[in-house]
Amino acid sequence: MRAQPKASHFIDGAYVEDTAGTPFESIYPATGEVIAKLHAATPAIVEKAIASAKRAQKEWAAMSPTARGRILKRAAEIMRERNRELSELETLDTGKPIQETIVADPTSGADAFEFFGGIAAAGLNGDYIPLGQDFAFTKRVPLGVCVGIGAWNYPQQIACWKGAPALVCGNAMVFKPSENTPLGALKIAEILIEAGLPKGLYNVIQGDRSTGPLLVNHKDVAKVSLTGSVPTGKKVAGAAASDLKHVTMELGGKSPLIVFDDADLESAIGGAMLGNFYSTGQVCSNGTRVFVQKGIKQKFLARLKERTEKIVIGDPMDEATQLGPMVSKAQRDKVMDYIEKGKAEGATLLTGGGIPNAVSAEGTYIQPTVFADVTDDMTIAREEIFGPVMCVLDFDHEDEVIERGNATEFGLSGGVFTADITRAHRVVDQLEAGTLWINTYNLCPVEIPFGGSKQSGFGRENSLAALEHYSELKTVYVSMGKVEAPY
Ligand code: NAD
Repeated sequence: MRAQPKASHFIDGAYVEDTAGTPFESIYPATGEVIAKLHAATPAIVEKAIASAKRAQKEWAAMSPTARGRILKRAAEIMRERNRELSELETLDTGKPIQETIVADPTSGADAFEFFGGIAAAGLNGDYIPLGQDFAFTKRVPLGVCVGIGAWNYPQQIACWKGAPALVCGNAMVFKPSENTPLGALKIAEILIEAGLPKGLYNVIQGDRSTGPLLVNHKDVAKVSLTGSVPTGKKVAGAAASDLKHVTMELGGKSPLIVFDDADLESAIGGAMLGNFYSTGQVCSNGTRVFVQKGIKQKFLARLKERTEKIVIGDPMDEATQLGPMVSKAQRDKVMDYIEKGKAEGATLLTGGGIPNAVSAEGTYIQPTVFADVTDDMTIAREEIFGPVMCVLDFDHEDEVIERGNATEFGLSGGVFTADITRAHRVVDQLEAGTLWINTYNLCPVEIPFGGSKQSGFGRENSLAALEHYSELKTVYVSMGKVEAPY
C-alpha cells in the first residue's frame, strides 16, 4: 500500500490507531488502487483528541504571539522543503495532476503558516480606549479548542487554512479531513510537531458524516469551521448553534462569470477554463455560469471549444497532464447525471460529456465539458455540479446580467471580464458574493479574505479577517478614581 500512514489518527504528537473504528480505504482515483487502509475514529479517539487539545491549549495561549509565529513559520519552511513529496501525496489522495498540486496545494498551505506566523507579533494587539481619567483596553483572546472539518478538493490547503489562524491566535485544533482524502492532514500534523509545536495542539482524526457530529456536539469545543456543501453546512451550523459555538462556514457556490463583448477574448476564455476545469472542476468558487454577451458569443464558443479539446487528460503523476480524475466514483456518477440532465433539458453540448479511456478503466475520469445555450431555469444552471462542466449562457445588457447573476441562493464568488474599468467596478459592486475578480478568476492569495455570502456561508478565511474568527475581544475597564454610588 503505497501511501499507508503509520496509523489512522495523529493525537498528542503521535500516530494512534483504534481498530475498533469502522475500517475504510483510501483509493487513488486515477487507477482505483487502494493506497491506504484506515479506521474511522471511535468515540474514545474523539475524547482523546479533544482532551489532549484542551490540555495543551492553555500553555500555548500563554506564549507570546512571536514565539507561536516562529513555529508556524518553521512549519512553512518544512512544507516548502518537502513540496515534491507532499504534492505527490496530495495527487494520490485526490487524483489532481501533479502539475497543479506542485504549485497550488502544499505551497498555499505553507503560505498560510508563513502569513499567520509573520503577522503574529502585530496582528493580535488590542486597543487602548481613553475615557477621561479612566481608560479601557481590549485584548484579543483565543476561543479554546477549535474543530476543523474539511472537504476533499484541497485537503492539505484546508488543513492549513484552518490550522494556521487557529494556532496563531492561541487555540488548539482538532481537524477531521474528508473521508475521501484522509492522508494529507496527517502529514501537516507531523510537520507541525517537527517545527516545534507542542503536542496536542493540532490533532487529526479520521471519519465521515457520522464522526463529524461527535466533534461538533462536544461540550469542550468552542468553534467549528467547516468546508463543505450547503446541506452539510446547515446541519453543522444548526448543531453548533444549539450550544452557541462560534462557526465559520465555507460552503458551495454557483458563481457567475460575466464576459462583456469588449473583453480580451483569450483572457476571458482562459479565466473561464481555469474557473471550470482546474482541479477537474472541484473548486467551490468556480465560475460555473459563464454569461457571454451576445456580440461575441460565436467567437467565444469557437475558441473555447478549440482550447478545451486540447486539454491533456491522463496520468496525474505525469507533469504534462492537465486534467485528472474526479475524486471518487460517486462524484463522477453525480456529475454524469448532471450532464445527462443538461442534454435532456435542451442545452447544446459543445464539447465533452463523456468518459475518456484514460490511465485505467477504474480511473474516475470525465471529459472537460461545455454546454452552450444554457438558460437560467435549467438544472445545470441552478445546482452546484462540482465537476468539469461549464455552462455558457447568453446575455444582452448589463442590468439584465447582474440580475440573472444574482438570481441564486449561493453567493460565494463572481467575476467580470471587460475593458471598461468603470463598468467592471459597477458590476462587481452589485454582484452578491464574498469574493469577486476583475479580468481574472479564482486567484486566492492568503493576503485576501475569502468566504461566502447568502447560502455560501459566513466568516472569512485568510488575511487579517480570519483572526477575528479564531479569537474574541476581552474588554477591561480601568477606574483611576473612587466609586461614586448613590446609596
Ligand atoms: P460534504 O459537505 O459532503 O462534506 C464536507 C465534510 O463534512 C466532510 O469531512 C464530511 O465528512 C463532513 N460532514 C458531513 N456531514 C457532517 C455532519 N452532519 N456533521 C459534521 N461533519 C459532517 O462536502 P464534500 O463533498 O466533501 O465537498 C464538496 C463541497 O464542499 C462542495 O459543495 C464545495 O463547494 C464545498 N467547498 C467549499 C469551499 C469553500 O471554501 N467555500 C472549499 C471547498 C469545497
